[in-house]
Amino acid sequence: MAKWGMVIDLEKCTGCQACTTACSMENSRLPGEHWQDVIFYNEGEHPSAQMKWFPRPCMHCENPSCVAVCPTRATYKAEDGQVLVDWERCIGCKYCMIACPYGVRFYTEEKPAYGGPDAKRVFAADDGHSWSPPWKGPAEDWKHGVGVQPSDVVSKCTFCYHRVAKAPKGTADLDPQNPALREFTPACVVTCPPGARMFGDLSNPNSEIAKAIGNKNGVRLLDQLGNKPQVYYLTGEGGAVPANRSLPPKKA
Ligand code: SF4
Ligand code: SF4
Repeated sequence: MAKWGMVIDLEKCTGCQACTTACSMENSRLPGEHWQDVIFYNEGEHPSAQMKWFPRPCMHCENPSCVAVCPTRATYKAEDGQVLVDWERCIGCKYCMIACPYGVRFYTEEKPAYGGPDAKRVFAADDGHSWSPPWKGPAEDWKHGVGVQPSDVVSKCTFCYHRVAKAPKGTADLDPQNPALREFTPACVVTCPPGARMFGDLSNPNSEIAKAIGNKNGVRLLDQLGNKPQVYYLTGEGGAVPANRSLPPKKA
């Protein structure tokens, strides 16, 4: 069984948000409800304050607090390590949204996520979906939380389950530069212009992502909480996980 995970190299990430756009197109997201967000923030004081950015998908935690609190077992952990939402079981109670320390879940019925026209009205759906986007992603699989979100349920990044689940068994790394694997690779990884993202099997010590985490001291966001994210950040000399948001890597 693979244990899929992601590595994001903060030294390479330019904050261009191509990943956000690719994810929104692939997964038919409502405007402003980005499963793959890039958070911008300031660090330091004037006159040396710096603007920084931080890409943040669902962490697909090994020990996910969202799964622990879900009363209907709509949120669950799939065999290959993804944390998914079964939209046929979700009752929209939002316990998971409170339990997730990373703020990566969405409930579409609350309010327009931005100040422009309400896309839910402009592109209204009459078939139980929350909207009818002008462009629809290729897959629809409610048991795995894939496709246009229905009304009154919670959603989040699936690690592009509809692509990754079709990858050949035993694949160590889903490298978008390999034409044979590109179609199975998450959309954000395929699109990232500087190649800041890697996706592969964390349980395979020979995978490139496992080696990168080991060689470059990969860190996890809010690691002290015990959720054990399956997304690792490489910080190197130039990048950083937001201050007070991660523990330094353990000394060997
Ligand atoms: S980041 Fe949040 S939503 Fe994603 S698996 Fe972890 S606890 Fe669940
Ligand atoms: S909102 Fe849905 S997925 Fe979240 S805890 Fe409630 S039933 Fe489970």
